[in-house]
Amino acid sequence: MDRIILISVFTLFTFHVMAQEKIVQTAGRDQLGEFAPKFAELNDDVLFGEVWSRTDKLGLRDRSLVTITSLISQGITDNSLVFHLQSAKKNGITRTEIAEIITHIGFYAGWPKAWAAFNLAKGVWAEDTAGEDAKATFQREMIFPIGEPNTAYAQYFIGKSYLAPISREQVNISNVTFEPGCRNNWHIHKATHGGGQMLIGVAGRGWYQEEGKPAVEILPGTVIHIPAGVKHWHGAAADSWFAHLAFEIAGENASNEWLEPVTDEQYGMLE
Ligand code: MN
Repeated sequence: MDRIILISVFTLFTFHVMAQEKIVQTAGRDQLGEFAPKFAELNDDVLFGEVWSRTDKLGLRDRSLVTITSLISQGITDNSLVFHLQSAKKNGITRTEIAEIITHIGFYAGWPKAWAAFNLAKGVWAEDTAGEDAKATFQREMIFPIGEPNTAYAQYFIGKSYLAPISREQVNISNVTFEPGCRNNWHIHKATHGGGQMLIGVAGRGWYQEEGKPAVEILPGTVIHIPAGVKHWHGAAADSWFAHLAFEIAGENASNEWLEPVTDEQYGMLE
């Protein structure tokens, strides 16, 4: 236990991470190679080269979580904690999550330790805005990319949406991501034969509504068939990010007709 504490204190320089590859750490040899060569070797080759590198057994994100919890619990809030907070961020722990993690630790390890850790974490996650953080968290729930801001169709949406092309051969498929509260205007997929659209919920919670009918909830795996000529809209729930795959169904003389926005009054009635 004591050895692990000491090793953690001297892991100050960057270590490079490739997926499923051995982590290269040089902090031990850089700082203690001459003074304590065995310690340096254990730090670089065993702790990082072997233990941290066993990512097939436990991922880097989880290892970061365990490490920062251990350090904070012991009241180690020096440069080594800063290093491990930076690693935790690189390994995917978001601003919202680190705030929750340290709050949780505070109850088990001590309030002043949480305060000390927060003072360092604030600096490490300083440039992350809450919105970007929520988007990053949502991306981790989803196997398809969020893609780029959906600027081409932004005029037909209320709120921010994102578009990622998934397939551009055989069947045209896009992943559409909506921030909470975002929805597209009422619209009609037109065609003289065939056509229409199919949606499959991918992550989060959203809505599909045909004119004159109650809205239908879309959850991951929900399949929605939209015939050509039917006036409808789709989008996120007010309190959830949401993504669906949109399949463009082949049809003759296919086109989209964009209509009026879904008002706050109409949208606000959904639960
Ligand atoms: Mn549609």
